[in-house]
Amino acid sequence: MIAQPCVDILDRACVDECPVDCIYEGERMLYIQPDECVDCGACEPVCPVEAIYYEDDTPEAWSQYYDANVNFFAEVMPGQSEPLGSPGGAARTGVLPFDHPLVAALPPQA
Ligand code: SF4
Ligand code: SF4
Repeated sequence: MIAQPCVDILDRACVDECPVDCIYEGERMLYIQPDECVDCGACEPVCPVEAIYYEDDTPEAWSQYYDANVNFFAEVMPGQSEPLGSPGGAARTGVLPFDHPLVAALPPQA
């Protein structure tokens, strides 16, 4: 999952490493589609701000971001009419014009 340090960074270093293209870009943060991720771990070491964690290794401070990653796909996000689900590759969706409410509510990140 991807946590708060990614917000407003959006450098996409992780996207280039993902063999299954399951890292999707919202307006302010990227999100990993949990059903498409194969847990290869290739994305984690390239993140310049240590925003990526395996679920079991997530620091307590970022625990809400597991649900944010899951629900970004499983629930209807603001302004949308249906859940994003499992699109089968971020190249198909491009940059998505919304974020999970947890991310959307944050002030600009330095
Ligand atoms: S761990 Fe998941 S999100 Fe990260 S590169 Fe591998 S498949 Fe992609
Ligand atoms: S590498 Fe890290 S900061 Fe960059 S887009 Fe991916 S999760 Fe966000």
